[in-house]
Amino acid sequence: MIPPIASNFVAGETPAAALAHVESLNDRGVAGILNLLGEHYEERPPADADADAYVDLVEAIADRNLDACVSVKPSQIGLDVGDDAFRENLARIVEAASDSASGDSEGTGTFVWIDMEDHETTDVTLDAFERHAVETDGNVGVCVQANLKRTREDLERLADLPGKVRLVKGAYDEPAAISYKEKSRVDESYRDCLAYMFEAFDDGVAVGSHDPAMIEHATELHAEHGTPYEVQMLMGVREAEQFDLAADPDVDAAVYQYIPYGTKWFSYFYRRVRERKSNALFALRAVVGR
Ligand code: FAD
Repeated sequence: MIPPIASNFVAGETPAAALAHVESLNDRGVAGILNLLGEHYEERPPADADADAYVDLVEAIADRNLDACVSVKPSQIGLDVGDDAFRENLARIVEAASDSASGDSEGTGTFVWIDMEDHETTDVTLDAFERHAVETDGNVGVCVQANLKRTREDLERLADLPGKVRLVKGAYDEPAAISYKEKSRVDESYRDCLAYMFEAFDDGVAVGSHDPAMIEHATELHAEHGTPYEVQMLMGVREAEQFDLAADPDVDAAVYQYIPYGTKWFSYFYRRVRERKSNALFALRAVVGR
C-alpha cells in the first residue's frame, strides 16, 4: 500500500485506483494522462508485461469513456533491451489505443504520449513518434525538452507532422556540450520553442510546465495565433492552480494532470521530494492534516 505521504503524487498501485482518480479529476474539468511507473528494463519480459498493462489500460479508459490518455517511457517498453523490442511494444500499444472505442470526446481512440528520456534516446524516440503520427493521423504525441540545444531544430521537423508535441524544460542532467545548464537559459529556450510552436503547429501545443510565467506566455501566444493548446502538470504539484485554470472561462486551454501509478512508486516519490523541499512539506502537511 502507498503511504499517505506519497499518495499526493501517485494515484495508487493498481489501474483501478488510477482510473478512479481520473474519474474524480474529470468531474472537476481536468483530464488525465496515466503513466504506469517503471523504466530501464534490461530484460524483455518486464517490458512486455508493462506494454500488456498499457494495452489493457487504453481499453479500460475507452470502456469507461474517461477523458484520459496514456504516456509511456521508451525504456519501460523495451528500449534498453533493443530497438526492436521498443518498436514492437509501442506499435502494440498505439494500435490498441487507436482501436479502442472512444477514449476521448472526439471518438478517435485513446491518445498515446511518448515521454522523452535522456539525449541518447532522442532520435529513436522522435523516429518512433513520426512513424505512428503518420500511421494514426495524429493519435500520438511526443515530449521534447527545452534544455537540449537541438530541440528548436527538432521542432521544425515535428511541425510538419500530425499529432501533438509536449514541451518541457527537461528532467535529465545532460552534458554541457549539448544542453543549456543555466536555469535562465533553459527558460529562454522554453519561451523561444513555445513561440515557434504556436506559430508553426496546427495540431496544438502542450505546455508541460508548472511555471506560471510559461503558462502566461502560452496564453498570450494563443491570443495572438489562435493555435489550440493544453496545459499539463504533475499530480500533486500546483493542483489548486490546475483546477483554477480548468474552471477559468477566460482560459481557452484543456488542462491535463499527469498521473503516475503502480507498485514502483518509491523512486518517483523520492525524486519529487528531492527536487523541491516544498513537495516534502506539502506531503507532510497532508499527513498531519494541516
Ligand atoms: P521549474 O523551472 O521547475 O519551476 C518553475 C516555477 O514553477 C517555480 O518557480 C514555481 O513557481 C513553479 N513550480 C514548479 N514546481 C513547483 C512545485 N512543486 N510546487 C509549487 N510550484 C512549483 N521531463 C522530461 O525530461 N521528459 C518528459 O517526458 C517529461 N514529461 C513531463 C510531463 C509533464 C506533464 C510535466 C509537468 C513535466 C514533465 N517533465 C518531463 C519534467 C520537466 O522536464 C521538468 O523537469 C519539470 O516539469 C519541472 O519544470 P517546470 O517547467 O515545471 O518548472
